[in-house]
This record gives sequence, C-alpha cells and structure tokens, in this order.
Amino acid sequence: MAIAGCGGRARTPAKEPPAAARDTIPPRVVPESLPPEKIEDVNAPQEPSLVDNSQVVRIALAAGVPRVTVSATGEWKLYDSNGESTLLHGDGGEQWIIEPERGGLRASRFDGAPTGVRPPPFIVRPIVRGSFVTVNGKRYRGEISVVPAPGGVTVINRLYMEDYLRGVVPLEIGQHRTEDERAAVEAQAVAARSYAYTHLVSERDRPYDMLSTVLDQVYGGADAETPLADRAVLGTTRVVLTYNGRIINAPYHSTCGGTTSAASEVWREGDEPYLVAVSDRIPGSADRYYCDPSPTFRWTRTYDQSSLRGALDKYLRNYAAVSSSGIGTIRSIEVESRTPSGRVRTLAIGTSRGHFSLRQNDIRFVLRSAGGEILNSTYFSVDSRQDPDGAITSLVIRGNGNGHGVGMCQWGAIGRARAGADYRSILRTYYPGTTVAAVDR
Ligand SMILES: [Zn+2]
Repeated sequence: MAIAGCGGRARTPAKEPPAAARDTIPPRVVPESLPPEKIEDVNAPQEPSLVDNSQVVRIALAAGVPRVTVSATGEWKLYDSNGESTLLHGDGGEQWIIEPERGGLRASRFDGAPTGVRPPPFIVRPIVRGSFVTVNGKRYRGEISVVPAPGGVTVINRLYMEDYLRGVVPLEIGQHRTEDERAAVEAQAVAARSYAYTHLVSERDRPYDMLSTVLDQVYGGADAETPLADRAVLGTTRVVLTYNGRIINAPYHSTCGGTTSAASEVWREGDEPYLVAVSDRIPGSADRYYCDPSPTFRWTRTYDQSSLRGALDKYLRNYAAVSSSGIGTIRSIEVESRTPSGRVRTLAIGTSRGHFSLRQNDIRFVLRSAGGEILNSTYFSVDSRQDPDGAITSLVIRGNGNGHGVGMCQWGAIGRARAGADYRSILRTYYPGTTVAAVDR
C-alpha cells in the first residue's frame, strides 16, 4: 500500500489496484464484542513447525533470485523435503548459501563443500527461543522456506499473521509515530490485517500469499518493528473490517489532499459501496484538513521540454496507441474532465502525430519524473508554456495529496488521532458502512 510517504517516505502508495475479485479465503467473522486474544509468543516457532492454532501467512522476501544466504541469531536447523528430514544444524550466525541444483536444492557453507542435492522446499528454523532466522542478514520471525523458481529460488517467510503485521505497520504508517497518534497506528493495523486476510492464496496456486513490497504491503521483518506499532497490533489482535459479513480489502494511501476518492474515480474495477469520497476538512474550519500536516498535502512538479518529452516517449505507449514513429512534437496538455471529488478523469495530450487521452490513475504512471518517480496523485491542475511554434517548453503541475486517494487517508488518520478520535471512528469514517469485527481464529 503504498503510499508515498506516509511517515515521510517519498514513494508511491501501496495497493494498486485492489484485487477484490482475486481468489480469497474469507475467514469466519464474529462480532467485535469478543475479547481479542493475546498474541502468542512466537519469537521462536515451536519445533518442528508453526503450530496450527493461528493464521499463518507466507510472504515472499525475494522471488527468482540466484541464491540466498540464511542463518539465525541462535542455533538453528536446516531441513529439506519441506521439513521432513534434517540436513544440517547451524550455530547462531553461521551462514549457509542455498541455491538450485538439478531440480533440487543444495546448501553450502561459506568456507566449505556443499551438501548433496536434496528435495525442496528447504526450511530454516531457529531452535532456541527468542532467536530469529536471518535472510541476507535481516531478522525475521517464524521460519523461512526456500523453493526452486525460474531464475533461481524464491524465499518465503512463513509466520503468524499478527507477527507479520508487526513488520508491516511501522513501514506503512511511519516508524516515528508518537503516542498521541496511536489511534492512527491502530487503524493502520486493522486496515493492513484486512488487506492481508483478503490476499491469502491457496498453497496449490502459489507458494506465497503476498510480496514484501509496495505491490502488496511493505514488510521489513523484525528489524522494522517499533514498540508503538507492536502495541497497536496487540491491541487490535484479529480485528478486521467487514462489509456484509465478509472481510474487505481495505485500500489506503498516504494523503488524500482534501477529499478521498471513490474507487470508481481511480480504478476500472473494485468499486465497493464503502469506497466512496470522504471529506477530510476539519469541521468548523474554512481551509484546514486533517491531512494538511503531510509533506505532500500540496506539491508542485515542473517539467522542462526534455523531461516531459522523456516521460511521454517512454511511458505513453503503455497506455495509448503510439505509432512506431513516436509521439512527435508535444503541443498541448490539458485536463479534459474531472471526477466528482475533483481528480483528473481524463488528460488530453495533443502532439504533431495525434491526440492521446489518458485516464485516471494511468496518468500517474506516464507523467513520471526524470528519475522514474510516478506522479503523486491525479488531484492536480496543469500550466504549460509554448514556444512561438506551438511546442510545449515547460509544464508545471500543481497538485494535492499523495497516492490513489481510495480508502483511508493515512495522514488524515494521524490528524484525527491527534484530535482525539479512536481507531474505530477513524475506520468508520474512511470506510463508511463497514463493521469493525474480530476474525474467529
Ligand atoms: Zn486526507
């Protein structure tokens, strides 16, 4: 979920677009009056595997890489055949490299000969309580599974849902949140948990549920955890958002810039009754918004002739029918129509080779910076200058907000938390008509 930068990160928001129609496994839902259960102490998973009394998620840390270096902070074991036989017993910090070989996998110590080729998956588990597995030096809870994949191996962290969220929430809402912003961190935990539950995939279909990047939710393992986010996850254990009794895929974004966006304003699919435009204006104020502390509440991006040409040359063909002879001279860029919340619905680009029309969120992926960064939002106006021949020589885009604008505005949630809102009211504001409920197990 992307989000450029809630918490000051300058990147694009995580989920785009929502995968509402994907193969999801709806867990049972019970009323929110049930007391949340305590997070199990799963610093070290029980041998020989994660116990089956809590939801386990499978997060791909790397897909199709040539090899991976694994270890643990305490004693650990490497199993082959999906955990059925022990291949080796490692000391804390002792590193082994796993790589594909003749349809199976093998492991080798930095200073030693490799093991024989053994059947996958390989499983890495700490055997001392309180220790963590490490992958390329980063610490993770749960266990690691390594499977052969095109290009090498795919590395999957299998761990409990609640532990996964501890490594997600700080990266998505910002690692420097303060106690007076706790309700926003709790709302983030519930949104991230809801997203995760709706992205569980059958083992038969794929060896992992989600990626650890902005394509799903950014996950940094144990090294990303913070005490405040841990408390927010624990305080909302198993709490999710539901609509008509089903867990929703709760999209979120960094900064709405004034008003959130209905899903239909941004995406071609995924329109749900709870994903509607919501004003972030502070009641009683003329021009104050809950998300106006965000560094991207208002922004400006300027293109000179060559950076504009570079962006259109490179990216327009992904979204419009550009002939092989190129786009020609750029003569006009104008907002053709806007959505009800004020975002750009269609952007018209006129060139010497034709007229191109860009739609909604596609615009952000075409008007990239020279460094490839997508446009913060579609909530903008344009101002261009032309030379005497009619060619555009500069383009200034003045915009509001950061991200797709659908669902919870993270900076708005922070502003509402500072103003005293609790996480339930924050969620009900940004996802109208939904229910805050607890997953039964
Ligand atoms: Zn907002």
